[in-house]
Amino acid sequence: MPMTALPARFEGDPEPLPIDLHMHSTASDGALSPTDLVALCRERGLTHLALTDHDTLAGVAEAAAAAAEAGLVLLPGTELSTQWRGINIHVVGLLPEGARGRLVAGLASQAEARERRAGRIAERLEKLGLDDALARAREQAGSERPLGRPDFARALVAAGLVPDVATAFKKHLGDGKPGDVKALWPGLAEALGWILDAGGVAVLAHPLRHGLTRRKRGLLLDDFAAAGGQAAELVSGFQNPDATRDLARQLQERGLYASQGSDFHFPGGHLAPGSMSPVPRTATLPVWTHPRLAACVGGPAAKAGADAL
Ligand code: AMP
Ligand code: MN
Ligand code: MN
Ligand code: MN
Repeated sequence: MPMTALPARFEGDPEPLPIDLHMHSTASDGALSPTDLVALCRERGLTHLALTDHDTLAGVAEAAAAAAEAGLVLLPGTELSTQWRGINIHVVGLLPEGARGRLVAGLASQAEARERRAGRIAERLEKLGLDDALARAREQAGSERPLGRPDFARALVAAGLVPDVATAFKKHLGDGKPGDVKALWPGLAEALGWILDAGGVAVLAHPLRHGLTRRKRGLLLDDFAAAGGQAAELVSGFQNPDATRDLARQLQERGLYASQGSDFHFPGGHLAPGSMSPVPRTATLPVWTHPRLAACVGGPAAKAGADAL
């Protein structure tokens, strides 16, 4: 199957481009191993992908091996947890050179923060009636990977305290609820600095998913750009085309590049790798044309495609 390089502009194609720059594996709260994730990406016709597990690059080596085998371009990445004005903001780092520079120590401190946070979440859920919360969350995780809120959500469901994961977030773990412990995460600008120091591109994740007003989202984008952030996810999964066009204007006003990703976590839901709304025609530039990433466009997949001709 010959593969073509990615376009340098968003021309308003009716179908999404075969690139997904936001996905999770068993290295964080995803259900598929990096190898199985790459296989599914290939099955679905993607040519370029980034593995962006929460606060870790632990799955990247395995994904890179699988991608090389499959002839896909894999960009190392991570999704860092940060805080901005009391809100938990996620920043995707696209890291062509992997983890280096200050990001190495940054990831170590994220792992520690995540572990301490799990202890605090457990204490709070114990008060709500979930005995041995930490052990139960660990049981749900089923491995030694760092714990996340979804593990606590499943523990609440398993204990019969809530009917489903959605309710667990709504009542106990979501924004502003007792299990939403943000205090341990670094500030937005600090985490962003780690990504820049690693030679990466910092991408504001799912900016439409925080329930912010347009004005407040503008302030977030201002601070993000001022701290050296280069891009934001113009499309994250499925979204309203009018919202996308409006967001594109906000990015363009600040000279930010546009990324796209599914935020895929597990099969069987409404999202799969590559499933997202197409990007409308816009002057906002695709993130893969950023000088730090441009080499990936003509990378191994394009070469493998050329070799196959
Ligand atoms: P954490 O990284 O531990 O803060 O957990 C955040 C993760 O929880 C997100 O990346 C999602 O995978 C998941 N999540 C957040 N909100 C919800 C929700 N309402 N329903 C299900 N999963 C959610
Ligand atoms: Mn997640
Ligand atoms: Mn996120
Ligand atoms: Mn994510």
